[in-house]
Amino acid sequence: MNRLYNFCAGPAALPEAVLLQAQNEFLDWQQKGLSVMEMSHRSGEFVGIAEAAEADLRDIMGISDDYAVLFLQGGASQQFSAVPLNLLNGKSRANYVNTGQWSKKAIKEAGRYCDVNVVASSEDDNFSSIPAFDSWNIDKDAAYLHFTPNETIGGVEFFWTPEVSMPVVADMSSTILSRPIEVDKFGVIYAGAQKNIGPSGLTIVIVRKDLLGNASDMTPSMLNYQVHADAGSMSNTPPAYGWYMAGLVFKWIKQIGGLTAIAEMNQRKASKLYEFIDTNDFYANPVEPVSRSSMNVPFMLADDALDKLFLKQSEEAGLLNLKGHRSVGGMRASIYNAVSEAAVDALVAFMADFAKQNG
Ligand code: PMP
Repeated sequence: MNRLYNFCAGPAALPEAVLLQAQNEFLDWQQKGLSVMEMSHRSGEFVGIAEAAEADLRDIMGISDDYAVLFLQGGASQQFSAVPLNLLNGKSRANYVNTGQWSKKAIKEAGRYCDVNVVASSEDDNFSSIPAFDSWNIDKDAAYLHFTPNETIGGVEFFWTPEVSMPVVADMSSTILSRPIEVDKFGVIYAGAQKNIGPSGLTIVIVRKDLLGNASDMTPSMLNYQVHADAGSMSNTPPAYGWYMAGLVFKWIKQIGGLTAIAEMNQRKASKLYEFIDTNDFYANPVEPVSRSSMNVPFMLADDALDKLFLKQSEEAGLLNLKGHRSVGGMRASIYNAVSEAAVDALVAFMADFAKQNG
């Protein structure tokens, strides 16, 4: 077996301990004679797996009974539609913050259902910063405020939460479980699983219960939060194997000390990489220092003609998936929870060596 260091933005690296446990019980889960993938989602066995995963997630994130936790299909992209359909509640306007490519996609989709008030945008700044909160033009009568706490492509992260009088909705796909957050500050949190939660195909939605039951009549049942909350996410067949894998990841997080320990580790990894980039003339990261993502670190080489060689040699050195998103070019190292400190050390050592050879 030859597992290499994987810096993919998603589907991303998973903890090896989790993969090994899944492998061990792949054919025969706890002597029941079948794989989790083959179980009825309504069986006692699977319901046990599902409930344990939800309980562990509630424990790790500190999610109170005021919130429903949904385990859905459709990806974070489907939530771009589900959010307005469930939350507009008769209103015709919603507030959106535009800090990058994922914000833009959420805005575009919401525009099908309502008038989108873009309260602030860093597009003129090439999405390298977060507009100061006191400059935001919030419509107080709009139904909710949506933002993207971590822009996976641009590598821009909010280390604060907007405090407003309406429900705050957050696309946490690439920051969830990377550090503790105050769930009570949010109306809805949603995330595709394929970064810090588990394999792709599972989407987690954490919704404050008082926001349920207001979906517009045109809302497809499968996008209606109330339908899924009432059925324990089993109104239709849930992404059962992904749910099980997520449960293993939640146990792994608990075992290594929860989100406080995870956050310390992530902080060390990100600091090491940014410090190296800042002190080496060959590399640059365009994001304002206070908003640099601790999960996705984009960086440019001094000469983009060397990009191809960098990617070829990094792959030969066992460092996978460093190519930047096609919309921005350059490189990107995604350093999610399961990417070890050793992986970051190996990346920094490779980058130093490459700069020496080619700088
Ligand atoms: N939002 C963010 C912040 C993302 O990073 C992604 C995926 N990279 C998405 C939304 C879309 O997620 P999905 O592919 O699960 O629809």
